[in-house]
Amino acid sequence: MAVRPLDTYPPRKSDLHSENPQMPRLPGAGALPARRPRQAPLTMKPKSEAAYLVRSVPYRDSDLIVTILTSGSGVVSLMARGAKKSRKRFGGALDFAKLFRAEYAAPREAGLGTLSSVELLCDFPKTVSDIRRYAVASHFVEVVRGLAREGEVSGEPFSLLDGGFRGLEAGGDPVSLLRVFQVRAVSLMGYSIAASPCGACGETLSEESTSLSGSVLYCASCAPQGSARISAGAVKTLRSASSLDFSSLGSLRISKKTEEEIGGFVEKALVRALGGEPKSLGQLHQFLSIDL
Ligand SMILES: [Zn+2]
Repeated sequence: MAVRPLDTYPPRKSDLHSENPQMPRLPGAGALPARRPRQAPLTMKPKSEAAYLVRSVPYRDSDLIVTILTSGSGVVSLMARGAKKSRKRFGGALDFAKLFRAEYAAPREAGLGTLSSVELLCDFPKTVSDIRRYAVASHFVEVVRGLAREGEVSGEPFSLLDGGFRGLEAGGDPVSLLRVFQVRAVSLMGYSIAASPCGACGETLSEESTSLSGSVLYCASCAPQGSARISAGAVKTLRSASSLDFSSLGSLRISKKTEEEIGGFVEKALVRALGGEPKSLGQLHQFLSIDL
């Protein structure tokens, strides 16, 4: 018969809730007092990271289940207890288009960690007060949510979103930023648009004789019927967009003519890479008067 350590006898109410004393204990568990706190099982030591909110779902009366995109740990899902009410711990910082420092305990394995508090680092007032910029920002959030996988530790999706928000706030042209962001998002998902060889023969594409069909670029000899020749300037723009540093996404201005050539192509490539069309796309076209 298993003997309970004296310091947990009589069993406290919380112990009775967390385990049944009649149950045989698991091998190796006998030496440990049954005192594991119920609320945060198997948590790692607290983390503190810059993050953006990418999803928020109400839970019970006062809690939120949030998904944040962090600067160093990728996407993390957390329970924010009392977040609907506690302005002290969460202020107005736990919101879309806000950069905050998140103090949280991540779960050791799959499951929810706990968000303890957030502190506002930076907000984007010009972006959220302009409907066109806000539509682009919402699209950015949806795209990074689609490309960043939980458990994948990479800072790149965070840097992409951060660069996109900063470019919008600094007054960058929304349509140019949108395309540059989409090109970079597609390459983060492993599909290089501009550095890619011909979709049929694998030859390096020349700026002078590149054609596109759907979401694929072709050299002059492989271009299928119905494909459209694109200008050297458009190929150059695609190349520049894919090599831009995340912090200078807003520095590339895409002309109206080039946008007409590459806009639809970049979107098709994005939809193909994501495996589906982002919901934000239709609204975005409406607000930015994009007619593909
Ligand atoms: Zn070819």
